[in-house]
Amino acid sequence: MSTLRFYAIKESLNRAPIKIETTVKRSEIFAQNVFNATAMLQSLTKDAYASVVNAIENGSKIDRSIADQIASAMKDWALSKGVTHYTHWFQPLTGATAEKHDAFFETIGDGQAIEAFGGDQLVQQEPDASSFPNGGLRNTFEARGYTAWDPTSPAFVYGTTLCIPTVFVAYTGEALDNKTPLLRALQAVDAAAVAVAKYFDKNVKKVNASLGWEQEYFLIDKALVASRPDIMLTGRTLLGHPPSKGQQLDDHYFGSIPNRAMAYMRDLETECMLLGIPVKTRHNEVAPNQFELAPIYEETNLAVDHNSLLMDVMDKVAERHHFKVLFHEKPFAGVNGSGKHNNWSLSTDTGINLLGPGKTPMSNLQFLTFFVSTIKAVHDNEELLRASIASASNDHRLGANEAPPAVISVFIGEQLSKVLNELESVTKGKLSPKEKTDLKLNVVGKIPEILLDNTDRNRTSPFAFTGNKFEFRAVGSTANCANPMTVLNSIVAKQLIEFKADVDALIDSKEMKKDDAIFNVIREYIKQFKAILFEGNGYGEAWQKEAKKRGLSNAKTTPEALKANVSEKTIALFESLDVMTKVEIKARYEIQVEAYAMHVQIESRTLGDIARNHVIPTAVKYQNILIENVKGIKAIYGKEFKKFAQEQLELIEDISKRIGAINSNVTKMINERKKANVINNSEQKAAYYCDKVKPFFEEIRYHCDKLELMIDDELWPLTKYRELLFTR
Ligand code: ADP
Ligand code: MG
Repeated sequence: MSTLRFYAIKESLNRAPIKIETTVKRSEIFAQNVFNATAMLQSLTKDAYASVVNAIENGSKIDRSIADQIASAMKDWALSKGVTHYTHWFQPLTGATAEKHDAFFETIGDGQAIEAFGGDQLVQQEPDASSFPNGGLRNTFEARGYTAWDPTSPAFVYGTTLCIPTVFVAYTGEALDNKTPLLRALQAVDAAAVAVAKYFDKNVKKVNASLGWEQEYFLIDKALVASRPDIMLTGRTLLGHPPSKGQQLDDHYFGSIPNRAMAYMRDLETECMLLGIPVKTRHNEVAPNQFELAPIYEETNLAVDHNSLLMDVMDKVAERHHFKVLFHEKPFAGVNGSGKHNNWSLSTDTGINLLGPGKTPMSNLQFLTFFVSTIKAVHDNEELLRASIASASNDHRLGANEAPPAVISVFIGEQLSKVLNELESVTKGKLSPKEKTDLKLNVVGKIPEILLDNTDRNRTSPFAFTGNKFEFRAVGSTANCANPMTVLNSIVAKQLIEFKADVDALIDSKEMKKDDAIFNVIREYIKQFKAILFEGNGYGEAWQKEAKKRGLSNAKTTPEALKANVSEKTIALFESLDVMTKVEIKARYEIQVEAYAMHVQIESRTLGDIARNHVIPTAVKYQNILIENVKGIKAIYGKEFKKFAQEQLELIEDISKRIGAINSNVTKMINERKKANVINNSEQKAAYYCDKVKPFFEEIRYHCDKLELMIDDELWPLTKYRELLFTR
């Protein structure tokens, strides 16, 4: 066994779980490190507090003198927790989080120093924007960008740093981050949903979109990861034969959590509690060493921040436990991949979940309004929704017979399908009194009972209604939820604006009453969105064919899917809602296609290196042993030797063929890469990487994996799947 592989396994086997201090009550430490309403109430004047609340609820501006007061209170609060630095914490378009720390410390002459932090530093900072992806905005508008405080997401203390959530924008106003468009989309859906909700309750003033994500991940011992250059550099294995035991016994899902992983989770949960991330659920996932963690849902902007923060914290806590967290959507071929289900709903400031059934027929008509509008929005924008979850890594998971396919469809369950069928037959125009009573009592009125036993969840659907929320399941485990949430909330906002216009038009023109108008519009929508509804097996081949017949898109790769991001339709959508300008949209697209090409490029280089420098030399070594063996047999048996060396001779030949295949494919792949790298247009470059470079991965891997099965285990340099997945 190679030294590295040997020590990696030895080290990981010898690790004991890190001891976790005695449990404290979660509720006692919850949000202790967050400058939230409670902390603010204790330290701010009434005026300052009211001003922050007003900014959070209505997006109003906070004036400078008040900002100074808040900054000073924040600083005192942070210093009391042993903090020395502060940072504007933001989410650039790399998908990760960024921070630049500054000390509170300042000198005031005469060899004296103080801790200082004013409103100016709280509200605005200027990191160097030129090192973050900006998709050409740099060239057009200079590199300068600034971060600006987002009061809707509370500041928090992590380690010895006060982190202030911020947006990141260019001086010319263009968004350079994930948060800015999200906040704009949330405003759009708020306004549009309030207008529609007022049909049912005049008192509604605000609608919040909520998000509850479910984060899946793998935990692999850090030493084992260090022995795999592919995991180190790309987050996934680029080769490796599946182990003889995988997940076929289904013995991992919800099974008892291994001790080391449990210690990690408890430690992680404590950190989350302190940071106010309301994590609640933890369990084993389908694959060995795969787990899931889910919080209680929150307002979407906060939930997105919390997921980004969580991913950072997960990495940091993992270091203490000698683990590496694999967030990749498909770290191991042939083994279940990881996703990040986005549970989404809309709720009013009057406490109503607009996607939950109510107690009265009228509240259920409201439910149907939002339910049907969401489905219509997905139907009309399925391509954009698909694009919102596209990434090089998620490509490996989508449609891989374990995750939703690349076709977007909506699952609503048998009972609600029946309700929609009945509503579809509603008479055009004014309803008769009998019809109205019937609908209210027997169709709409019965929804709550129906939903109670709506347990037949279809796990294969990318977008499923699950009782009181929609669950967007195609989101990848590495994703920043901001992008899919920006798209989902934008398309729903647009649809709700249309719904209101359609209903108002009927009320205005034909003297139709409100309920009649709503029923009529719902009926029309149901007729229009049928193609998107699918209750069957989303993993099956048959669905792909059926979806094609229905005219649904099926973009199998990221470069193909991303095109929807820059279509005329998308530009019109985002511009009409003030979510993004054409310039911002195009810049983002540039960044995404560039990221894709770089991603495949790195994988291709890594694979080429491992294949040539690890696999081939090992194969040659083993082949030489076989050759020596054959020579020995020949020395003993002379002419008869073949009788005793037949197998060895076949192995020698097979190894030669595979070495040849690997080497020639690596050469061809490198040549294609050279061609790709001289393409100037980023979109074409991404397509070239996808169509011409990536296909070699499978071919090269195939032969490497075959060699793994042939070659003496003692010689094989790379830690094997069984060791990565079953060592604990
Ligand atoms: P699962 O999908 O694994 O069966 P649940 O359906 O219980 O689990 O919940 C998954 C996630 O959905 C959790 O994060 C939960 O907080 C969230 N969730 C529940 N209700 C809502 C809602 N109304 N809006 C958004 N998310 C929600
Ligand atoms: Mg779920």
